[in-house]
Amino acid sequence: MTLTTRFAPSPTGYLHVGGARTALYSWLYAKKNGGDFILRIEDTDLERSTQESVDAIMDGMNWLNLEWTHGPYFQTQRFDRYKEVIEQLLASGNAYRCYCTAEEVEAMREEAKAKGEIEKYNGLWRDRTDYPADKPYVIRFKNPLDGDVVIKDMVKGDITISNEQLDDLIIARSDGTPTYNLTVVVDDWDMKVTHVVRGDDHISNTPKQINILAALGADIPQYAHIPMILGDDGKRLSKRHGAVSVMQYRDDGYLPEALLNYLVRLGWSHGDQEIFSREEMIELFDLKDCNRAPSGFNTDKLIWVNQHYMKTLAPEYVAEHLAWHMADQNITTDNGPSLSEIVKVQADRVKTLKEMAQISRYFYQDFTEFDAKAAKKHLRPVAKEALLLVKAKLAEVTDWQAENLHKIIDATAEELNVGMGKVGMPLRVAVTGAGNSPALDLTLALLTKDKVLARIDLALAFIAEREAQA
Ligand code: GLU
Repeated sequence: MTLTTRFAPSPTGYLHVGGARTALYSWLYAKKNGGDFILRIEDTDLERSTQESVDAIMDGMNWLNLEWTHGPYFQTQRFDRYKEVIEQLLASGNAYRCYCTAEEVEAMREEAKAKGEIEKYNGLWRDRTDYPADKPYVIRFKNPLDGDVVIKDMVKGDITISNEQLDDLIIARSDGTPTYNLTVVVDDWDMKVTHVVRGDDHISNTPKQINILAALGADIPQYAHIPMILGDDGKRLSKRHGAVSVMQYRDDGYLPEALLNYLVRLGWSHGDQEIFSREEMIELFDLKDCNRAPSGFNTDKLIWVNQHYMKTLAPEYVAEHLAWHMADQNITTDNGPSLSEIVKVQADRVKTLKEMAQISRYFYQDFTEFDAKAAKKHLRPVAKEALLLVKAKLAEVTDWQAENLHKIIDATAEELNVGMGKVGMPLRVAVTGAGNSPALDLTLALLTKDKVLARIDLALAFIAEREAQA
């Protein structure tokens, strides 16, 4: 039998980091074991499910490169099958019609509560057959009355729940539509899911699902319930904490490798190793090594991981992602250095690709203004001489390479008998518009001769204007 895992999101919003981590763990476990990974869209809540969310979830999965082997399946396309299984449960005596109104059920719960008993439906219609005509009914599962259900959870260990605690849960509403616990069971059964990896917010559903599977004579999958992700305030991670959508992390300038690496470590560890390539994750990941306690989201650590990948992945690859941000910031890049060159000089200077794009604009576009502070400090009349001399020397360069440019800056400083900074800083502000840039020789090399000379002229004009005003 092929090991099969699934990711089963409800399309009621974007793919958030919690969902992405669940998907990642399911995917890794399947990959590691040469198994299949199913994507199943649980869209039975027609009011809250949207096509937009389906697209957003798939975009997130694609961006993270978590490819599925089967699907996407849509639960709304499987209603006939759910009906069939409900009929099967009715016919085998494992389900029954219940004619109680919501108010009656509520009253039962109240009564149980008053007596200090477990609040649940009291089984009024469990064995009745005196069905009233023309009255709406729901269908309930006949949960075993005694005995225990044991969840052999791969993360949390054995969890035992007494059947006394469990309700005869509704499996079909009065309009005939199936409920969540029924659809999940039918799907996990039909899709031959061997390992259910999901958030531990579902743990209370698991004993119910195990009972239904048992009543159907289906194999019970292995379960792995993953603890929640908490925000920095210790509360469950949500929108309040800022970015939680996977695609927002792309927009904010993170590499998919960084988010994946961050997520794999958020709830799982292998010694004190922090950096895992995809191949390593697949090789080393195991559900049984997942943490039992919730994990706290830590943006600083994500930034650290992102910086690691910007610096160590092939510049040509990082450049593909940088290209997205350049386009996002309306920077046309065909008229300038290749983006992989930008990655080489900027990767260790920024936290994100968004920032990398922001600070690389001057390589592709002329700026209309100098950074006020930098200009005030470095484009002063005293800088004129250095700029004129360095420009004259640069104009002579035939082999426009960092090494040669470096020599020219040195020679200029020497000739004027000033420190390197007295030449370098005005030149840097002249060609980049600001006081910060990668090493000046590399920056000049990437900018090309024409641009550098033209920008020095603009800086000289700026100084002249300043002199005129003084
Ligand atoms: N559709 C459920 C959710 O989005 C997941 C169900 C499951 O994994 O069993 O939370």
